[in-house]
Parts: sequence; structure tokens; C-alpha cells
Amino acid sequence: MAASAPILLTPGPLTTSERTRKAMLTDWGSWDGSFNGLTASLCDTLVAIANGSGSHVCVPLQGSGTFAVEAAVGTFVPRDGKMLVLVNGAYGRRLATICERLGRAHGVHETPEDVPTTPEAVDRLIEEDRAITHVGLIHCETSTGILNPLPEIAAVVARHGRRLIVDAMSSFGALPIDARTVPFEALIAASGKGLEGVPGMGFVLAREEALLAAEGNTASLALDLRDQHLYLRRTGQWRFTPPTHVVAALHEALRQYEDEGGLPARHARYARNCETLIAGMRRLGLRSFLAPAVQAPIIVTFHAPRDGRYRFADFYGAVRDKGFILYPGKLTRVETFRVGCIGAVTPADMERAVAAVAETFRELGIETL
Ligand SMILES: *Cc1c(COP(=O)(O)O)cnc(C)c1O
Repeated sequence: MAASAPILLTPGPLTTSERTRKAMLTDWGSWDGSFNGLTASLCDTLVAIANGSGSHVCVPLQGSGTFAVEAAVGTFVPRDGKMLVLVNGAYGRRLATICERLGRAHGVHETPEDVPTTPEAVDRLIEEDRAITHVGLIHCETSTGILNPLPEIAAVVARHGRRLIVDAMSSFGALPIDARTVPFEALIAASGKGLEGVPGMGFVLAREEALLAAEGNTASLALDLRDQHLYLRRTGQWRFTPPTHVVAALHEALRQYEDEGGLPARHARYARNCETLIAGMRRLGLRSFLAPAVQAPIIVTFHAPRDGRYRFADFYGAVRDKGFILYPGKLTRVETFRVGCIGAVTPADMERAVAAVAETFRELGIETL
């Protein structure tokens, strides 16, 4: 069993349920009313998860999450706008790279990878640079698992009359985001993370007025969210071929999300996964990289054992042979590895993963205590 179907403890693609995978056994016609119904229902549910029903719309987009981030920056930031990008990891840096490629002026505020951005810093930076029109924030920076204070930063940005673009890719559906109290211009997430669908589509939540006002901003045809929205609104169809199987799988995954008890239940399961994982690894002598107060229950970064015999590739391979796929670290200065807590996995799976890690250390003769 272990060799054929490993459990992915990676934050997307991740482990999906059999019910979700089975939803991909049907071929859907992209012009067919039944497929349009899937898209409409999916979008309604995604908006409702953020409490945005009636105020916000969902624009789905083909591609991985980064496509949706790039589409949001290009669509919402005018060519003469300027984005303040808040960075404490690789996804923040990627957001700055997107601004650069799109030719959008931007400034970068970087904190160490274990330090969240503070609302006070954002307040001061906006005061100092009146050219800033937009602020870009990564809600949970998946490169470590650190949580940035979205509601507090959103309040500061709104108080200054600036607009917030949130990459909530790994947190959406797992951590509460309330569109009624957290003002944002665009909030971006994707199918294959905490909603437990398969990868292949991103989506952006926004107010329709903001989408309509974004005319002429982007130079891209395929990544124009305003066009995508207007076409969908007019025809019920995606502009260009939709990832039909991905949509069907996400639709089915969302029914299970509701069956489970929605956001509170999903959040609670991930939090238990995370606690079980950290406690188990601590018993093995492995320390997590982040302070508990800033650790999101999405993915955990662990310091690698100091033992000179440790090599990530050997460790990874031996744990994989026991049925679990881990993730390499993404930090430049410290040797780490990462373990995801999201996906169709339970605390019992986390216990088994810890046991597989313990057995691997014994096999490889690695001392951790
Ligand atoms: C997964 C993720 C993305 C998108 O990455 P893709 O590889 O394009 O799917 C963007 N931001 C964050 C925070 C993520 O976790």
C-alpha cells in the first residue's frame, strides 16, 4: 500500500479523498448547462466561505495559483499604480517579481522569515510613501507556515484609503477570512490547497465594482480577470477551455467541506493535525522553526537534525518508502524540512508520519536527541 499510494504531506498538491478523485471520472462539455451549473455553484460557495455573498464575486481562472496572483496584480493595479509588497518568504518575493515583470512600480518591506509583518510597519510605510496605491500581503506564507495579521493590516490599508491584494492561497477555507470586516480589493486562492481539490484552477474574490473599474489595466489577454468575469456573467461559461475535471473535483470537495462542518471543522482538524505533528516531532527531538504564536496550522517547518549523517534526499526517500511524502525546506540560512498539515489527512495520519520519521532516523543511524 505504502509504495503505491503515499500520503502527501505537502501543501498542494495534497492528499484528496476518494470521493473527490472519483468526481473526475466524468467528461464534461464546457458548453453544457450542467457544467455551467457546477461553475456557478462553485463560485457561490467560494464567495460564501469568505462571507462575501451579495457583496463580492468569484472569478475563477485556469492555471496554478501563481497565474491567479499574476492576473490579480495585472488586473487591479493600474499601470501608474505602486504596490507595497510585504515579504517574509518565497511567496512574498514571488509577488514582488510579478510586479517587476508586469512593470508595476513597487516597494518591498521585508521581515525575517520567522517575523510577521506588523500593522504598525504598514502604517508607517504608507505615511512615508504617498505614491503607494496598493499593498500586497501573503496571509499564510507557505514557505515557513508563518501567519501574517491580515485583519489588522487590512484595517490600516483601508484607513489610508489604499487597496489590499491578499494571497490567501494556503489559508483560504482553513483560516477565517471575513469579507464583511476585512476590506480587500482582491483575495486569491486555488483549488488544490485547504479546500482539498486537485490543482489546476485559481480564483479571485473581489467586489464587482472593482473589477469593472479595472478596465484597461492589464496588457494580458488570458490573465484579464475583468474580461473573465464579464464573459462568465454574460454566458455562464469560462472564457477559454475550463479545467473541467478540476472544477468537478473542487465542486465535490466543497460538498465534503460542508458535510465536515465548513470552516470551523476544517480549521479544527488542521489545528489538531498541526499539534499532533509538532508534539510527535518534539518527542523525537526535532524543533519547529516558528514560535507557536505565529505558526499557522497549514505547514510546519522543522530544523533538520544536526547529525552529520543527515541528508535530506536520503531522509525523504526513506520516509516516502514508508508512505509519506514530505517537503524540502525553503530557507536559505538554516537547514530545514517541511511537513504539511492540510489535505484529507487526520491526526492519526500525523502520528503514523511521525512514526515513519522515527523509524527512518533509526535506519539511517541519525541521532536527534
Ligand atoms: C501554493 C501557493 C501559491 C501558488 O503556487 P502555485 O505553485 O502557483 O500553485 C501562492 N502563494 C502561496 C502562499 C501558496 O501557498
